[in-house]
Formats: sequence, structure tokens, C-alpha cells
Amino acid sequence: MQNKNRIKRLVKNNCACYFGAKYGIPSYCCLQDGPCVFFAQDDSLPCCTYFENGVLPMDEKLDQEYKSDRNVESEFKTAKSRVNCTRCGGTFSANSNRQKYCEKCRGKARKENIRIRVRKFRQKDDSM
Ligand SMILES: [Zn+2]
Repeated sequence: MQNKNRIKRLVKNNCACYFGAKYGIPSYCCLQDGPCVFFAQDDSLPCCTYFENGVLPMDEKLDQEYKSDRNVESEFKTAKSRVNCTRCGGTFSANSNRQKYCEKCRGKARKENIRIRVRKFRQKDDSM
């Protein structure tokens, strides 16, 4: 995350919950009652509602980057839930767990279902 240092600077200068070094914690946040989430030593994308609503809007450019960073991550997550098509076996990204067919097969499968239904209907018709 490239803008993490800018977030930290914004937090340091403007966040009302950020107290700096306190209680032996180097970046104490009174909301967390612990270190500020943005000062964690990992590559995660921390979220803080107070920061997003109360501090981030001060820096419009960073606000946009912050949001796009998180959108990218959520897209990445949905892309990860890839499912095998039960018809052709190809992988596709499903929007829900109920999706069984890939984009290509979805239309074909629907037509097949209609054909089967029509055939059953005709058979019933014949027996009468
Ligand atoms: Zn398929």
C-alpha cells in the first residue's frame, strides 16, 4: 500500500483519537484502546470508520486513493471465488453459490431445459 505513510501523517496531524505514545503504546488510539490500526506493521488494508468519516475527507486525493485501494481488494476477493462450470468444466467467477454454469453455457443450458420440458409435455400429450 503506497499511501499508508500519507494516512499515518494525516492520522498524526488530524485524528482526534490519536494520542501518539501513551501507556507504552507508540501510536495509541483511544477508540482502539491500543495502537492505531494504520500503524500496524503489516501490509493489510486497515479500516477505521472514525478516520474514514472524520479525518480522511480533509485530504481529497488520499480519500480517493484509499477508497479505490479497498475497491480493488474487494474485486480481487470476488474474483477468487471461481467455480467450475458443471456443463463444460471451465472455470468462471460466480456471483453467487447457486450459479452452476459459465457465461457461455448458461444460455445453452436454459435452451436445453426448455427443450426437455417441451418433450415431456409432448409425451404427456401423446399418452392421452
Ligand atoms: Zn460452461
